[in-house]
Amino acid sequence: MVSTKIIIGVLLLAVIFYGCSAGKASYYELPAEFRQPEKRLEFAEKYYPYITGKKIFIDPGHGGTERGNKGFESFEAEANLNLKVSLYLRDYLKRAGAVVFMSRTKDTTVDLKQRSIMADSSGADIFISVHHNAPASANNIWTDYTATYYHARKNNYEYEPCSHDLAKYVQRDLAYAVRNSGGLGSFNGTYSDYTVYPGDGFSVLRETKIPAILVECAFSTNHFEAGRLNEDEFNRIEAWGIFKGLCRYFKADIPRITFLNEPNIVTDDSTSFTFLLSDSTGIDPGSIKVQFDSTDVNNLFYDEDLYLLTVNITNATTGIHSLKIVVANKNGNHSFPFRKEIIFLPNIR
Ligand SMILES: [Zn+2]
Repeated sequence: MVSTKIIIGVLLLAVIFYGCSAGKASYYELPAEFRQPEKRLEFAEKYYPYITGKKIFIDPGHGGTERGNKGFESFEAEANLNLKVSLYLRDYLKRAGAVVFMSRTKDTTVDLKQRSIMADSSGADIFISVHHNAPASANNIWTDYTATYYHARKNNYEYEPCSHDLAKYVQRDLAYAVRNSGGLGSFNGTYSDYTVYPGDGFSVLRETKIPAILVECAFSTNHFEAGRLNEDEFNRIEAWGIFKGLCRYFKADIPRITFLNEPNIVTDDSTSFTFLLSDSTGIDPGSIKVQFDSTDVNNLFYDEDLYLLTVNITNATTGIHSLKIVVANKNGNHSFPFRKEIIFLPNIR
């Protein structure tokens, strides 16, 4: 009799434990702002003034006929997860007063190049492409981390440090919200897209002219991750993480560059150009980098009282040239891509 009771007891315990573990199949923590209304209010008061009026282009990756990554045991196609997170992100941004554009709001096919054209012609300030990752090998169900990509590498002419800044802010809050590491290939979870496609990078980052990043929120192919990715509440946490990163990025401000020598046509082969640099936190003079075509210009002067940058160009050849300027503010945020076309006419003297 005793042994029967023990067996029943053990069976009951087993049922209870199984029940608990089944209920805990997907584990995540709610952000403080989800649990405590006063934290949400605090965040809104501190950050929403900086995101109000900002124009954000969201690109939910894939969709329509493009549904290659089906996730662990085909739970949910990546394309659907990307759209769900993007729509939640849109809602958070709109509620905070931002203007949002999207490459798709339904399960439709959108050409890669078209996504960049839409972003650049929308008038948006920044571009963010939302994805979920998959490993190279189809039977790898273990790999999982959160990564954010920017275009090119630091020493490439096409590299824009502002996109890297944006990637850092979004990666930090997204990875924290979902409690994932940023992987071992990077110290802060941001990656050049050249690590995936050397010399080319991702089409949406290469072709888009406004500051652009691509987030790989998590690996939907991972056996643990797939469970929580299929819960709406967790998709909202992902979106909240991206949203918080964007809020903090804009609060840190972005330096603006204004060309003061219009028109841009010059009849002398040696001349100087003046630019007004403005930022609420101040400009870091050591950060100023000017390139004439792709050559560094060292003959320049920054007047810290007047916020004026003077760039001296000598012995320019006749034709169309480009001045590329990058400056950072005191928070380390870099200016948006700035290239000024200068036309040198034959020297008439
Ligand atoms: Zn993808």
